[in-house]
Amino acid sequence: MHRPRRPWRRSKGLRAQDIRIGIDLGGTKIAGIALGPDGTTRAETRVPTPRGDYAGTLDAIAGLVATLEAEAGTEGASVGIGMPGAVSRHNGLIKNANSVWLNGRPFAQDIAARLGRPVRVENDANCLAVSEAVDGAGAGERLVWAVILGTGVGSGVAVDGQALTGRNAIAGEWGHNPLPWPRDDERPGPACYCGRRGCLETWLSGPGLAADHLACTGERLSGEQIVAAALQGEPGAAATLARYLDRLARGIAHVVNLLDPDVIVLGGGLSRIESVVAALPERIAPHVFSDAFDTPVRASRHGDASGVRGAAWLWGPES
Ligand SMILES: [Zn+2]
Repeated sequence: MHRPRRPWRRSKGLRAQDIRIGIDLGGTKIAGIALGPDGTTRAETRVPTPRGDYAGTLDAIAGLVATLEAEAGTEGASVGIGMPGAVSRHNGLIKNANSVWLNGRPFAQDIAARLGRPVRVENDANCLAVSEAVDGAGAGERLVWAVILGTGVGSGVAVDGQALTGRNAIAGEWGHNPLPWPRDDERPGPACYCGRRGCLETWLSGPGLAADHLACTGERLSGEQIVAAALQGEPGAAATLARYLDRLARGIAHVVNLLDPDVIVLGGGLSRIESVVAALPERIAPHVFSDAFDTPVRASRHGDASGVRGAAWLWGPES
């Protein structure tokens, strides 16, 4: 099959010694990785997130960078950081982070000053998209749309291997769009913490799946338990999974009509179930405004490591 060249790979030569550090700043742990120019792991480590402690979070990241540089035998490596939320383009402060002690803080400037170098900070879903675009399930594709289906729901976009941030730094914030083509019994939809009703996240997150199953069957199961039961043929769980896939397909089709990505990459717990991923294209197709729909839908290649890997690749091969 013809694969397009990667235009972002031909701009400037790599320096052999370049080490890229990626940090994934999560709510419970901060993970770090040092990648060689070929994408191999030179060092990796993680520490618990100092929850609620802004200065402690800066300390922890600085400590991780020092550890990774020592292990990788380098100094002055590039540093990229992925986190939930974004740096506001309006005032440079963090917004929308569920690690709420970062919100309203000039985190990007503070960590750059602390590390004595420029630091790129991106939304974690964008990091997934970048990771998969550079050397994952979207490698060689120009426009990669990556969807995270986990405790929360979000997505990110990479164009030519680079994160598409957007004017308001919200490109890809799909989880708080409403479920498209809603049926009567799906309106107005569950209440979302963001203040709206019927957000995709309330349907497509693990807790959303569990809530739908509870509402329809009276049975209290986790998202993983529901999928496991469905795959074993339990009728109630199978019906819940079918509703879930139909809603996910509608949500995806809505974006396909807008963005028409070259590949759709799924991350998060549900993406690890092959039959779930395989079931999607035929459910997406009827909602797409096109005579044909042949966009590949793939599970992420790097899985949970895509957060750190994508953060490292924020300093792409061209930079
Ligand atoms: Zn919402």
